Amino acid sequence: MEALIGLWLLMGFFWGLVAAMIGSPKGQTGTGFLIGLFFGPFGVLIMLFTTGSRRECPYCRELVKEAATVCPHCQREIGQAVPRQRKTSQAQLKSDLDKFRHK
Ligand SMILES: [Zn+2]
Repeated sequence: MEALIGLWLLMGFFWGLVAAMIGSPKGQTGTGFLIGLFFGPFGVLIMLFTTGSRRECPYCRELVKEAATVCPHCQREIGQAVPRQRKTSQAQLKSDLDKFRHK
């Protein structure tokens, strides 16, 4: 039984490291480690699909930090982070309003 728990911890640690490595270029090393630790291979998948707090540079398409004003890859000015447009939530709000009106 103890060996099983040890193996489980070892696997969790392994997946944590893998997820941390994936999260590292996205600035989410710590988060990645925890997610990998708890979710194992699924955590690694989660880290693969998350972009973290990064956004795409409009010039070179590299991921840069959300707060960055100059792209570290192409040295171009990319301005302050603009809050992401939530097209879906706006559409959702409209449909909610419509539902409300029909009541
Ligand atoms: Zn760039």
